[in-house]
Amino acid sequence: MQFIDLSAQQARIKDRIDGRIQAVLKHGKYILGPEVIELEEALSQFCGVKHSIGCANGTDALQLALMALEVGPGDAVFVPSFTFAATAEVVALVGATPVFVDIDFKTYNIDPESLKRAIIFSRKEGLNSRAVIPVDLFGLPADYNAIRDITRTEGLQIIADSAQGFGGVYHNRRTGTLGDISTTSFFPAKPLGCYGDGGAVFTDDDGLADHIRSLRFHGKGSYKYDNVRIGLNSRLDTLQAAILLEKLAIYEDEIAHRNEIADRYTHALSEYYGTPTIPDGYRSIWAQYTLLSDNEAQRYQIMTTLKSAGIPTMIYYPTPLHQQKAYKAFPVVPTGLPVSDEVAKRVFSLPMHPYLSLQDQSKIISAVKDAVANV
Ligand SMILES: *Cc1c(COP(=O)(O)O)cnc(C)c1O
Repeated sequence: MQFIDLSAQQARIKDRIDGRIQAVLKHGKYILGPEVIELEEALSQFCGVKHSIGCANGTDALQLALMALEVGPGDAVFVPSFTFAATAEVVALVGATPVFVDIDFKTYNIDPESLKRAIIFSRKEGLNSRAVIPVDLFGLPADYNAIRDITRTEGLQIIADSAQGFGGVYHNRRTGTLGDISTTSFFPAKPLGCYGDGGAVFTDDDGLADHIRSLRFHGKGSYKYDNVRIGLNSRLDTLQAAILLEKLAIYEDEIAHRNEIADRYTHALSEYYGTPTIPDGYRSIWAQYTLLSDNEAQRYQIMTTLKSAGIPTMIYYPTPLHQQKAYKAFPVVPTGLPVSDEVAKRVFSLPMHPYLSLQDQSKIISAVKDAVANV
């Protein structure tokens, strides 16, 4: 059994993907070819946003967002610590200061109260509070209304990191529309993944969209050899866009399957473990299905038992960023990150992908029940 099985999906749409690849080889427009434009339009339709801009990966998508907002030295950007490194990495890369904020114990997403305290703190430190990067962790949208209430009064921008959450729903709105700028990743293991690296930036703001399109192409102006700003080389390959078009066509159906599997897991396991909380009005896309064990020692025993039963599990994330060597020097909210520290010791994730057979689901469920009974 695999933790994420990409081959079942490939078998389902292989002919269509092959056809798309052949079409690209035939027209030969490998950079920003017609499939990129077609995909950008399809992504905009899918999430209901005005502009979708393909780029090289989900990390660049975040960096392009920060560059478009002209975030730099002296600026504070608030980020969760319980996330993939890219969320904070890009802030440091543009010369700004990532300020680590704690998460909510139920959703594992940024805690608005902790955010408020971090903003007060960074003001005292003389930093200019510019933006917050909520992460839609494990596929569940962050609490954007609560975050928006804070950013509106404080004059901050929201960059929604939806690398794990593209297609999720928050009170009848899709991710992609929830930040001033939103981003996603098409890394192969993400719910909407390509066959290499890829990413996208989303916004309703025409000016920001123009700026981002320029930034992804060496800061181009009216044409290719007109350079009006310092940018990046960060385009989505035409071949990856071609593949993504066929994957996007079945994505809604896959999200439904992921939700069925998650419901089955939760129904069977909530007696034994902390199971994910999906607040009213939210829909997760289940990038991960994550359980909460009692403590670190129990988690280790459970994962070891599952491994010998042939069930792969993973820990996302064993070490919060504020404890990592590269990020230790950056400030944390004065009240600390007790929830991030605690959750990192207790969580583990089960196999989750839309093609997990009923038989494998049952096997996982009974092994996970047995594992907790034996510790
Ligand atoms: C995967 C991921 C990224 C980065 O995406 P890449 O395409 O790998 O660069 C950023 N943020 C989060 C939360 C992610 O999970």
